[in-house]
Amino acid sequence: MKQPTIFERSVAGRRGVTLPRLSPAEARGPLPVPPALCADAPPDLPEVSELDVVRHYTLLSQRNCCVDTHFYPLGSCTMKYNPRVCEKVAALDGFAGIHPLLPQLRGGGALTQGALEVLWRTERLLCDLTGMEAFTLQPMAGAHGELTGLLLIAAYHRAQGRPRRRVLIPDSAHGTNPASAAIAGFEVVPVATGPDGTIDLADFEARLTPDTAAVMLTCPNTLGLFERQIREVAERAHANGTLLYYDGANMNALMGRVRPGDLGFDVLHLNAHKTLSTPHGGGGPGAGPVGVKAALLPFLPVSTVEKRDDGTFALNYDRPQSIGYIAPFYGNFGVLLRAYTYLLALGGDGLREATDHAVLNANYLRVRLRACFDVPYDRLCLHEVVLSAERQARAGVRAVDIAKALIDAGFHPPTVYFPLIVREALMIEPTETESKQTLDSFIAALEAIARRAEEEPGSFAEQPASTPVSRPDETKAARDMRLKA
Ligand SMILES: *Cc1c(COP(=O)(O)O)cnc(C)c1O
Repeated sequence: MKQPTIFERSVAGRRGVTLPRLSPAEARGPLPVPPALCADAPPDLPEVSELDVVRHYTLLSQRNCCVDTHFYPLGSCTMKYNPRVCEKVAALDGFAGIHPLLPQLRGGGALTQGALEVLWRTERLLCDLTGMEAFTLQPMAGAHGELTGLLLIAAYHRAQGRPRRRVLIPDSAHGTNPASAAIAGFEVVPVATGPDGTIDLADFEARLTPDTAAVMLTCPNTLGLFERQIREVAERAHANGTLLYYDGANMNALMGRVRPGDLGFDVLHLNAHKTLSTPHGGGGPGAGPVGVKAALLPFLPVSTVEKRDDGTFALNYDRPQSIGYIAPFYGNFGVLLRAYTYLLALGGDGLREATDHAVLNANYLRVRLRACFDVPYDRLCLHEVVLSAERQARAGVRAVDIAKALIDAGFHPPTVYFPLIVREALMIEPTETESKQTLDSFIAALEAIARRAEEEPGSFAEQPASTPVSRPDETKAARDMRLKA
């Protein structure tokens, strides 16, 4: 059913709220607005009643496809269920109502001591989880964490008196890795992926020059596979004075099992909004905490949260070697608070179990689905599995058709056409929060789609049929956006 826009609902003269008439003196107001600042005509706003507005936005909100309504196996994004207790804590008045400019110190009001303590404790927990020395919680997304980490690496090499220019990044990496490295001023050098889906060590060695500042590794990588040669990479890199960066957006596959700090990584970011709860999507909000080993500590962004000898907490801006500000105040506090709640609610054993279930669920899908889809790297995967629709594509049914057909079957599609090194990729991340029943119904839907791709390959063109818009020209929709009908 087509829903009118809020402008199409407009009826001349209709109002949401009617205020009492002002007297001429009240209408003039205490300070007259200079005529130069007055518009010639009233703004072109929809004229609607309160009920029109409530119905319009309530209906729109029900059109959302979200984790609360649908299985959402969007690979790489970790769209898992977020425990409501995290929302409850984030909404507590004492947290939701504070302002970053309130006094920090006891005597001055102590109004933010609790918030500073949460940040400080969150940093300690993340250090425990990852094996790093210290954290900054300021970055507001995974990519922002990468940029921060790379600026730290640049500052480190500068402080050694040997600025370096190159950053090595496997060709399987998330697109944000090369983008962040380029924005940080580095030259990006791609490293090939070997036949087993992990970094090609010989290619890596060939590209490791004295000018290499860092190598960025994602583990598990975007194929969902554990990088088995991290120690070799770390040894070669460190012997060359090159730092090792860990893209920890997929840490939900390692939590409680492996600590990147123990593997030799010098800098990392986590995606709090993937691994540690927080509903996300549509561009935010997020948090990309960055952890470092001791050698990079002096360069952390200002401010840092510190615990003083008298037990109070304070923000420290006095850090002469700092890379400076990378976020206003102290990052996305609400997201960090959810992460803290999640860490405490699950505890060490709970985090390890979450990891194990994420891995078990992905492998269950891999094994059950390999009869009807190609699995280009068919070995034990971690939290996600990458299938290929090449077999179906030969009959004219491409990954995008399978994604659209899944919508009609009641599932959010997986990520398609990523990673780029897999043709017709279907990247499925079930997450740890789904039951076997849900996974089984998803498998049944994909099996039915695969059967139909063989028997009636022409039957996909009109899908999805259950959505208000079926197949928009996606490029045109992005380049030539028309929000009014
Ligand atoms: C999601 C993701 C990122 C980027 O995180 P954002 O919060 O979207 O900026 C980086 N690397 C990997 C592997 C990811 O999955």
